Amino acid sequence: MDNYHHILIALDFSEHGNHVIRKATHLARIFRAKLSIIHVLDNIPMPDTAYGTVIPLNERSTYELLETEKSKLKQIGDQLEVDAECRWMVWGVPGKEIVRLAEQEHMDLIVIGSHGRHGLALLLGSTASDVLHHAKCDVMAIRLQDEAAEDEPLTEKAALGSSA
Ligand code: AMP
Repeated sequence: MDNYHHILIALDFSEHGNHVIRKATHLARIFRAKLSIIHVLDNIPMPDTAYGTVIPLNERSTYELLETEKSKLKQIGDQLEVDAECRWMVWGVPGKEIVRLAEQEHMDLIVIGSHGRHGLALLLGSTASDVLHHAKCDVMAIRLQDEAAEDEPLTEKAALGSSA
């Protein structure tokens, strides 16, 4: 098998994410591949900068939600020692943005969970299915089951570090 050079991990910040991260970082070590991470903002309205408006979401502001998502990405990025320019947070439809980024950055492997926030009942979630159907590079869908939620948390940097 050819080496993978640049691996993209798709993170939805669900409790199953650690399982996906562990597998992806293991592969990155084996292939000495560069690691990138992406989180797509699909549940926060994009501020309409043209009109200077920010759409409020219940009691919590869009800004607070955005800061929370940013800090989650930073925390994981720091733990995995992912370069700053390899941490992506974009607005849009997760499947489409993941595929678009992988193509744009010439990534050769996308690692995703078989499903995430959008339903354990499904064999393959909608994002996973979207990515598998449209990506031009290889895709590894990590099969997630309920037990994955009980995985150890990401603590040991040494065990997870990428070899980028
Ligand atoms: P789903 O198909 O939406 O149930 O999610 C399957 C997998 O797609 C998750 O385990 C993540 O790896 C990825 N994913 C889902 N939503 C997002 C998102 N908003 N941003 C990045 N990756 C996502």
